[in-house]
Amino acid sequence: MFLGDVMESLAVNSAGEVAWPLASRGDRASTTVRIRDVVIGGAEFVVIAGPCSVETREQVQEIATRVGRAGAALFRAGAFKPRTSPYAFQGLGDDGLAILAQTVSRAMPVVSEALDAAQLARVAETADVVQVGARNMHNTSLLRAVAACGRPVLLKRGFAATIDELLLAAEYILAHGNPHVLLCERGIRTFERAMRNTADLASVALLKRLTHLPVLVDPSHATGRADLVAPVAQAALAVGADGLIVEVHHVPSQSWSDADQAISCDAFDDLMRALAVQAPLFRRTMRSTSTADAASLRRCREVIDGIDEALLALLSERVKVARAAAAIKGELGLPLRTPDREREILRRVAQAESELPADARLRLFRLVIDETLAAEQPRDTQEVTRD
Ligand code: PEP
Ligand code: MN
Repeated sequence: MFLGDVMESLAVNSAGEVAWPLASRGDRASTTVRIRDVVIGGAEFVVIAGPCSVETREQVQEIATRVGRAGAALFRAGAFKPRTSPYAFQGLGDDGLAILAQTVSRAMPVVSEALDAAQLARVAETADVVQVGARNMHNTSLLRAVAACGRPVLLKRGFAATIDELLLAAEYILAHGNPHVLLCERGIRTFERAMRNTADLASVALLKRLTHLPVLVDPSHATGRADLVAPVAQAALAVGADGLIVEVHHVPSQSWSDADQAISCDAFDDLMRALAVQAPLFRRTMRSTSTADAASLRRCREVIDGIDEALLALLSERVKVARAAAAIKGELGLPLRTPDREREILRRVAQAESELPADARLRLFRLVIDETLAAEQPRDTQEVTRD
């Protein structure tokens, strides 16, 4: 059994003990982490968005308004930045936290990074979720400290950390009393230099099997390229991630940090529209925004148009497959209509979880079945005569 093998090789150490007893999935249901009205790890595909760093009050205000309207559930922005070069912008520090507190944090929950235990209490006072960055994943004293900070923790995978080490880092936080841990895959360092990191999306699928904790993907740091953020974000949805953390800037080229990977607010709108259409295919939901303005109405209409387009494509594909089934039935000498099967389809339609009432669903699907059958006929006859 594949999953059994994985569990055995990863979760159990040489002494036969489970390496991460609190993080391991075992037979636990998926854990959900609640941040105000947002639940991560449930049906909703939760998107966290914002700039790499807090820069100015206006910048935070502008980006928060835009990403909130597009359906981001949480705002991200670093006040303390773990930069590779000591000469690079290190973040506004406490002034950055003050900007977050005065602008966005009343409207939207905030995710922000703490670099060390000394900053932690201040970060936790403003941020609803404390981020432990990739560079600090191995910092065990910080892991112990965030366990006691009273906030959920977004724990990023170190860029040279194995999945086992990520889960052991999570285990530190869990073992020290904080059950609210979000894991984040943000790309790892491989031989490949064409991108900033290598997005290890397979690890997301594996983590969902190995642990009950929610798993997020950061397509921004994973690729380092704005043009790759949307495709990797969509792949994250498909591979089973519980959400995203994405860097967005109102003027990407002028970002004070990570400019190459920041997407514009318009690009974020496009991404959220695409995800809203795709999420139901992966049994996920996306939140819709409720700001009463013309831009939000336009956005709702654009999402509806995208969903209609997907519905049309699915219906067309349904006809194609039904036609193939009809051809097989013909070969096997079976009748074209199978009332038992149609009743079975309608029974499932009636029982499905849906925002649409059952009688409306049944009406629609009777029509879908009849029209699919009708669409099969002429083409079949034509093909038979042509042959
Ligand atoms: C960040 O989120 O801005 C960041 C520094 O991320 P990472 O720790 O993944 O490099
Ligand atoms: Mn960044």
